[in-house]
Amino acid sequence: MTGTKIIRGVQEAHHFQLLIKQILEAGLRYEPGREIVYRDLVRYDYLKLKERIGRLANVLSGLGVGPGDTVAVLDWDSHRYLEAYFAVPMMGAIMHTVNVRLSPAQLLYTMRHAEDKVVLVNSEFIPLIERISGELTSVRQFVLLTDEKTRPECTIEFAGEYEELLAEGRPDYDFEEFDENSIATVFYTTGTTGEPKGVYFSHRQLVLHTLAITASVGAYQSQGRFRSDDVYMPLTPMFHVHAWGLPYMATMLGVKQVYPGKYEPAMLLKLLLTEGVTLSHCVPTILHMLVSSPVVKSVDLSKWKVIIGGAALPEGLADATLKLGIDLYSGYGMSETCPVLTITYLTKEMLQSDLSSQVKYRIKTGIPVPFVDLRIVDEMGSEVAHDGKSVGEIVVRAPWLTQGYLKDDDMSRQLWRDGWLHTGDMANIDREGYVEIVDRLKDMIKTGGEWVSSLEIESALSQHEAVSEVAVIGLPSEKWGERPCAVAVLKPGFTGKVDGDALRAFLKKFVDEGVLNTWSVPDRIVFVDAIPKTSVGKMDKKKLRTDMAASANSVK
Ligand code: AMP
Repeated sequence: MTGTKIIRGVQEAHHFQLLIKQILEAGLRYEPGREIVYRDLVRYDYLKLKERIGRLANVLSGLGVGPGDTVAVLDWDSHRYLEAYFAVPMMGAIMHTVNVRLSPAQLLYTMRHAEDKVVLVNSEFIPLIERISGELTSVRQFVLLTDEKTRPECTIEFAGEYEELLAEGRPDYDFEEFDENSIATVFYTTGTTGEPKGVYFSHRQLVLHTLAITASVGAYQSQGRFRSDDVYMPLTPMFHVHAWGLPYMATMLGVKQVYPGKYEPAMLLKLLLTEGVTLSHCVPTILHMLVSSPVVKSVDLSKWKVIIGGAALPEGLADATLKLGIDLYSGYGMSETCPVLTITYLTKEMLQSDLSSQVKYRIKTGIPVPFVDLRIVDEMGSEVAHDGKSVGEIVVRAPWLTQGYLKDDDMSRQLWRDGWLHTGDMANIDREGYVEIVDRLKDMIKTGGEWVSSLEIESALSQHEAVSEVAVIGLPSEKWGERPCAVAVLKPGFTGKVDGDALRAFLKKFVDEGVLNTWSVPDRIVFVDAIPKTSVGKMDKKKLRTDMAASANSVK
């Protein structure tokens, strides 16, 4: 638009840059005494956090890290990771959060592609790094991260062990001001076929994302608020989209933070109870693991708020979780979007209704958070009706979306079309603006010319008393194009009899109520011991499709 008056201050005026260091400064100002906890091993306050961040920056600088260099981290969720979340970008360098669950070949690909210069590696991942270290040509130095006193025997030459290096490093580091558009973080997504794709985010983007989620999850009066007196423990790995950005939000608020290391149910429950954790976030798989643990029934989790995202929250799991007194709700986003786009918001009226009526809103992904312009469009790019039924693809604009895939112009052009980031997620939106994800475009099933949502069938089957976990995929059919196939895991303690026919009979109720169509009922239902998971803990439908197509004649 022309004609607007642009601010032109006096030459002496300071042009303030939005930088990650300001997030840390805010937390320190409000709650310098709050604790950062790592398992049952480490505990210190925000003042110490700042000091250790300064030491880490000095150590990295001594190892040759300068502005624009990439520092890779391979660790479970830890206080060390939190320190890197700040020290690395605050130096003007780029933090590569390495997905430690990738195959060695993919790991090598991502570390070479990101041009990692210094690598901080937990002793557990040394065997992985040893396999590829000869080909990590950009790497100059490795730093050992370990909880053990003894040093591992290995072929990697370390510049030193993290704690020893920090002890030698000076605590004061002059974090200079620089352009807020400088890249702060990079990581890789493996959602689709082909090599992993790098996404990257600037200081400005991370600061704005932090402010927006603080408003969305913290300020609006609704369910499950995340406030400064909460105790935070992430259950989404810190290598995956900055643990949804919540460590940045927690630090800005000066919240007590608990880092659980590798996710082990016993340690998670112990920390939850002994540290008084009140807010976490995770994919449904982790929630499922915790909720199905027998210990859960004997402990009080009624002060725990959990945000679910990364995959649809099946109604059965939501029900079981809410019955335990856990304040559960959803968020939606993706690696490419920093990640948060929408979060559940229950109005005062909804909050007054009983839990069973609230479930359907808690499993929806809510409304777009401030500054997200989200539309649902048909194949022609026109917005679909806001009627809670019409389905289209989610396209978005927001201040914190990756501006492309790292060094991949072709894929970047597929992601960004006509100025909109295309998510590949199919959804509907109702009159109040609540978004419901219907499916990934590639997971939707086209049977007899009709589109069927795998998530709807999963959600229905998850409510059967015998079903612990279920995935629905489309398999090729000569007659119908594709047919839905359900792959289910039974609850361990379930003693009754259940087979495919029983589950199909159960789905009839949903067909009668108009929730499902008759053609949505899977004619193939397979029982398995476990559903394969992706590197970030989601159900691996790509693998399931291959496995199931290969065993086309197994039990119906
Ligand atoms: P990732 O990039 O691995 O974080 O995966 C992002 C994808 O996860 C999205 O594009 C969605 O398909 C899916 N996803 C994320 N949050 C939700 C949600 N609340 N409900 C359904 N699917 C989700």
